[in-house]
Amino acid sequence: MTTLLPAPRVRAARPAGGADVDVQGLAAALRQRIRGGVRFDDGTRALYATDASNYRQVPIGVVVPRTFDDVVATVATCREYGAPVLSRGGGTSLAGECCNVAVVMDFSKHLNAIESIDPRHRRAVVQTGLVLDQLNAATRHHGGLVFGPKPATHSHCTIGGMVGNNSCGSTAQWSGTTAANVERLEILTYDGERMWVGETSDEEYRQILAAGGRRAEIYRAVRDLRDRYAEQIRAFPSLPRRISGYNLPALLPEHGMNLAQALVGTESTCVTVLRAQLRLLPEPPKHILVLMAFPDIAAAADAVPTINRYSPMALEGLDDKLIRYEGEEHMRPEALRLLPEPTNHTGRGAAWLMVDIGSDSVEEARDRIHRMLDDLGDVDVKVFDDPEHQEQLWAVREGGLGATARTPGGGPDAWPGWEDSAVPPERLGDYLRDFQRLLHRHGYDAASLYGHFGDGCLHTSIPFDLVTADGVADFRAFVEQAADLVSRYGGSYSGEHGDGQARGELLTRMYGPDVVQAFEEFKAIFDPDNRMNPGKVVHANPLDGQLRLGAGYSPAEPATYFRYSGDSGSFSRAALRCAGVGTCRRPEPDKGVMCPSYQVTGDEEHSTRGRSRMLFEMLRGETITGGWREQSVADALDLCLACKGCKRDCPMHVDMATYKAEFLAHHYAGRMRPRSHYSLGWLPVAARLAMLAPGLTNAVTHAPVLGGLVKRLGGIDPQRDMPRFAGASFQRWMRNRAPGGTGLRGRVLLWPDTFTTYLSPGIAAAAVGALEAVGFRVELPRGPVCCGLTWISTGQLGVARRVLRRTVDTLAPWLRAGVPVVGLEPSCTSVFRGDTLELLGHNQDALRLRKQTRTLAELLVADHDIALPELRGEDGDRPHAISQTHCHHHAVLGHDADVELQRRVGLDVEQLASGCCGLAGDFGMTPEHRDVSLAVGEQVLLPAVRAAAPDTLILADGFSCRTQIEEAGTGRHALHLAEVVNAALRGVPAGERPEHALSVRPEARAVRT
Ligand SMILES: Cc1cc2nc3c(=O)[nH]c(=O)nc-3n(C[C@H](O)[C@H](O)[C@H](O)COP(=O)(O)OP(=O)(O)OC[C@H]3O[C@@H](n4cnc5c(N)ncnc54)[C@H](O)[C@@H]3O)c2cc1C
Ligand code: SF4
Ligand code: SF4
Repeated sequence: MTTLLPAPRVRAARPAGGADVDVQGLAAALRQRIRGGVRFDDGTRALYATDASNYRQVPIGVVVPRTFDDVVATVATCREYGAPVLSRGGGTSLAGECCNVAVVMDFSKHLNAIESIDPRHRRAVVQTGLVLDQLNAATRHHGGLVFGPKPATHSHCTIGGMVGNNSCGSTAQWSGTTAANVERLEILTYDGERMWVGETSDEEYRQILAAGGRRAEIYRAVRDLRDRYAEQIRAFPSLPRRISGYNLPALLPEHGMNLAQALVGTESTCVTVLRAQLRLLPEPPKHILVLMAFPDIAAAADAVPTINRYSPMALEGLDDKLIRYEGEEHMRPEALRLLPEPTNHTGRGAAWLMVDIGSDSVEEARDRIHRMLDDLGDVDVKVFDDPEHQEQLWAVREGGLGATARTPGGGPDAWPGWEDSAVPPERLGDYLRDFQRLLHRHGYDAASLYGHFGDGCLHTSIPFDLVTADGVADFRAFVEQAADLVSRYGGSYSGEHGDGQARGELLTRMYGPDVVQAFEEFKAIFDPDNRMNPGKVVHANPLDGQLRLGAGYSPAEPATYFRYSGDSGSFSRAALRCAGVGTCRRPEPDKGVMCPSYQVTGDEEHSTRGRSRMLFEMLRGETITGGWREQSVADALDLCLACKGCKRDCPMHVDMATYKAEFLAHHYAGRMRPRSHYSLGWLPVAARLAMLAPGLTNAVTHAPVLGGLVKRLGGIDPQRDMPRFAGASFQRWMRNRAPGGTGLRGRVLLWPDTFTTYLSPGIAAAAVGALEAVGFRVELPRGPVCCGLTWISTGQLGVARRVLRRTVDTLAPWLRAGVPVVGLEPSCTSVFRGDTLELLGHNQDALRLRKQTRTLAELLVADHDIALPELRGEDGDRPHAISQTHCHHHAVLGHDADVELQRRVGLDVEQLASGCCGLAGDFGMTPEHRDVSLAVGEQVLLPAVRAAAPDTLILADGFSCRTQIEEAGTGRHALHLAEVVNAALRGVPAGERPEHALSVRPEARAVRT
């Protein structure tokens, strides 16, 4: 084979990039010439060293362009210095096409605007850093128009990435691939030619040639290539998902010589794409989802040709392993219960098909489904027309890669590498049978099989052993054999994720040397010096080269404070959890909490993934060499709010709050910490001291000069109000009263957390009132106790452990007597349910504590005999409420019981999709976090509170959430659910200002119980 492309000279990852590129000169020139970010530091390079694939290549540097002029200047400067370039969107690529020893341009932060939507011509022009869901949210307002292809990563993948990879997803069966939906692209070549390309008529072609210049040169060369290879191009495999290789058929005259569509799928190896003009499609307004059960996955695939006759919008297959893994991970239990069971189950493993029938009318869709089912004969079917059920079931399918990446129960990790092959849909059943035999021969039976079956595309993550030499050799052998198998079926090695490095080397097997030469020539037309994402697709690096792990992988295994019981006790395994899926890069908190800091900064560094990658690199010790003392890791973790959103929302359950605490513990070991760690970390002790003279403390902390001094000394934001201590602690109030109620329902131990006890004791008093009214005898632990939360969040883990150990000992008599422990403050309650065992190690009382800890709502709704009266508004109607779920409540405790309790006390509640409030314990109290803290709150929560009618109840169980609401100038005070339940039990009406009528906080009203 002729080598047309010179190899790039940049090879080494250290120091700071390529050996032959003057990296310092390049960085300095870039800083001079562009407005956007230029980051050549080791931390940033480590951050971008991998995508969602098996590969790792540390870039030369990273540029975050603000404008297209920045992009043009970046490419020009790289050309001057001979440095390769790589464009990046969401970085969710699975084949290694989005990491390289290059200057990486991250389009996602600034270049993400929708420039125009033209509903009449059904098209939109967008900047390529735009996230797909954001585009569709805007276009849907124009008569239900959407950009059709929808990868599972739709909430965070970018249009540039979709163009780069020729992305598809489930709906591509209806819409076609990205290439089919791109009309024109504005491109930039490495040598600086910037132009719009698209379909080219003969007349336009003549005009372009007549105008001369580099543009004419490109067009002439492209047409010449097309004509020379026309016969081979016309012989490309004909199948819906031919994603491997360049899309040269788009150049054929019968396809209008569409240069834009030919460049879709070139993975940054030919050009940089600035803007895209996209075709929009009217989405059918009615959808019915049909679920069918089959005895095994190949039998399910055999039904595909019949179903395809009924033009489904999407036809997806999934096997029992995916369902089992999601079940074992406790993912979407309600949705999993909806699946039909196959009646003729053989025990070999059930499988399902999900068929989405879209239509303009429900009647037409039903009619089509009836005919389809008649045609199929005897199948086990369930039909869902409720959009909520449909959404839940789609989430099961879209969660596939996340659920299967780490085999539950300590099994081997599973990896991409052969994750998206495609064959003609009518041959999928047979391909699956052969493929399962191949998996079995290599001992990879644990792999789950699922995918876009209607288009013949099979997804699977395979438990390759990528850390031993034999394992890596077997990985290669398997992939080569799988490639040959797909070739025998006339398929494509990639059915949607692209070739990158994982499949680039194999293209000769699929297409033969002549066509691969055509690919090389095509690239050379745009990029003769091979500076565009070199080593990917053509002239590809070996598929087992540059592995993220590899036979030499040997991370540091430091001793840790937390146990990491879900990671075999290994911090390095915890740091390896992140599969790069990128869900933490969703730009809005619409479906959960994760990741508030990314939502407001848009920086990779401030996403869960970015932080995971930094920790991974820290343990690897090559690019980031400072270990626990490393400042770039500390910087990346600094804006982590420790909200634990990721623990729940990340498909791999990355628990960054824990990793941050671990890091801080080691980072500051034996040296001075930030002042706020002392003032806020030791708050429980400070609060006890303050309660010796609360009036005096409040006077001092709120005095103009003295208060400012206290804040400065404590490292606290001068613009924040210092917490006001109550006149008497909850414990004192409790000591001074006789137990109330009958106690017929038994004893409960009310957890006196620091925030409730000293700052909002009225809430605890309300809880006592409510508990006693329904028949519980309320007890308190004797002596000072604490869950250690503030020491955990500031990484003072030695102290936290001691505090927790003492607490568990104090609680032991109640725990051993089986008494439930009721927590009111979600973050403290979460410590008992999560962190305690992880910090204390195996401890029977800690185990009991985890099991016996309840939220108030969990306790009250568990007993169906408890009759709760409904709260009424002044006018006798059901009061309206908006509810802010504390992020630890969301992540650790679960909020379902609260929703049920809110319903039982008669509230008409809107659960805000607001994510984190932004204050997050100590996070928002420091001046350096102020902007991020408020920006997080301003996303949804604070505007919703401001917009609420005066008689709307604002519910927030978290002290942080209530504080943020009060301090952000909303003019409202939020209520704890305990206050509402207590008021309902006492027949207090909600009133025109519910917080005045129902609040039992001393500062708002006298305690009423
Ligand atoms: C869990 C999971 C599920 C997935 N499911 C699907 C699926 O259902 N369907 C599917 O098709 N894919 C899927 N993918 C793959 C991937 O998410 C998609 O291909 C997605 O569209 C990539 O978008 P991105 O913004 O993350 O692109 P990136 O990874 O950032 O980039 C993708 C490619 O495009 C290039 N590129 C990016 N921006 C530009 C630009 N401005 N100019 C030129 N080149 C550019 C990059 O260099 C790279 O080669 C999945 C990935 C994961 C991890
Ligand atoms: S942290 Fe979780 S959500 Fe984010 S990329 Fe990694 S696996 Fe995905
Ligand atoms: S704990 Fe919260 S802020 Fe930190 S990484 Fe996870 S989701 Fe993001």
